Amino acid sequence: MPDKKVVTRFAPSPTGFMHVGGVRTALYAWLFARKNNGQFVLRIEDTDKEREVEGSILHIQESLKWLGLDWDQGPDIGGPHAPYVQSERLELYKKYAETLIQKGLAYADPYAENEIEEFRKKAEEEKKPFLYRKHRPENPPAWDGTRPLRFKIAELKRTVWNDIVWGELSAGEEALEDFILIKSDGYPTYNFAHVVDDIEMKVTHVVRGQEFIASTPKFLSLYEAFGVLPPFFVTTPPIMAADGKKKLSKRDGAKDILEYKKEGYLPDTMINYLAFLGFNPGGEKEIYTRGELIKVFDLAKIQRSGAQWNDEKLDWMNKEHIKLLPPKEVEKNILEYLPKEMQNSKLVPVILERISKWGDVKDMTGKGELDFFFKQPKYGKEKLIFKNASPQKISENLKQAIDILQVLDEKDFKQEKIKTALMVLADKLESRGGLLHPLRFALSGLDKSPDPFIIAEILGKNETISRLQKAV
Ligand code: GLU
Repeated sequence: MPDKKVVTRFAPSPTGFMHVGGVRTALYAWLFARKNNGQFVLRIEDTDKEREVEGSILHIQESLKWLGLDWDQGPDIGGPHAPYVQSERLELYKKYAETLIQKGLAYADPYAENEIEEFRKKAEEEKKPFLYRKHRPENPPAWDGTRPLRFKIAELKRTVWNDIVWGELSAGEEALEDFILIKSDGYPTYNFAHVVDDIEMKVTHVVRGQEFIASTPKFLSLYEAFGVLPPFFVTTPPIMAADGKKKLSKRDGAKDILEYKKEGYLPDTMINYLAFLGFNPGGEKEIYTRGELIKVFDLAKIQRSGAQWNDEKLDWMNKEHIKLLPPKEVEKNILEYLPKEMQNSKLVPVILERISKWGDVKDMTGKGELDFFFKQPKYGKEKLIFKNASPQKISENLKQAIDILQVLDEKDFKQEKIKTALMVLADKLESRGGLLHPLRFALSGLDKSPDPFIIAEILGKNETISRLQKAV
């Protein structure tokens, strides 16, 4: 169906939070729709009432909104095929079911659950797959909605189909079953409802995970029964846990996507990172804005093998995306994560150097790593000593540094000027460390601190000299 307007959809079940795997599926569907000026539909598949988790619909929408994956049709905004929540579409499924009954392609299941269990056990004993169709009743009762309605597989055959990612796929006739269309609670099964909706909503490309490959022959037999051409199938690879051995599951750290928001990652980073888990446009470039991603996105470049989750890579990418932000925005974010009494824009460059996401700012202040900017550091005297230099020597060096800084004009008390001035002194010493080490300690009280010259600038002339005098 190449001439049709592209329509993709994201069809989550509201069974909990949205983890990164679900997000990536949504992302690919969204990228493809945007690339083709198509439509991206959000549809809620809530027909399994037992598994439903309260609040998930809002949570899913909030996640997509944070990421900027906007939808053109959906539960909150409506659209030409509203409603977009399956539990509100029961009449429609019934209508489709009735068409199948009329065609002789659906029938009421006469068996009680325990009878079906018997069939299943027997098949197991005989080491054969259990196929309901083998027990298809000769004269099924009329369907009154109290029993499951089953699809009648018309023709047993090998199913062959194409997947944009996988190429040709096929399955033997054992994949065909008289599967349930409508359950005895009146709700349709996923197998049935999603096909009806994809037909009604004119979906052209179905993007979803590998777990649906096995049932595709069933979906195809439904399309055939309705006399409708199936959409293109786009099967995404799994996301693997960091060890590369198993699929990333909730247990192995597949986090709620909104956790990343809390930790202070940028939505653009998540989009870039997730897009690359299973897709590569080729070339060396790895940092893409969403606009660039839309341009290069290509279904044919989705990989088959699972891509491995990597937190370090994510952090690196986030740092790169922060660099793309206007400085004002960086400042705003960093200040927001600082406690009120520390909100000083002079600290921004120092902090920026040491974080990969906004949440790291909180970690830094939590560990007291910025406290020395606000109060005199405490440290043991011996900390000032560099290697085997004598205390007298160190004290002399610091005194000289004070003399140099005294003559610097208040308005010249800037990182570069301070550095140039002090390095003249440091270079005259046997080892630069004889000045730089005690300088760092006197100012910060830390072994590893930001550059002492920037600390001096931030502290200002008076405070810097006062700290050095104390050290002396
Ligand atoms: N409701 C299904 C799920 O959440 C969607 C599968 C599909 O995209 O067809 O897994």
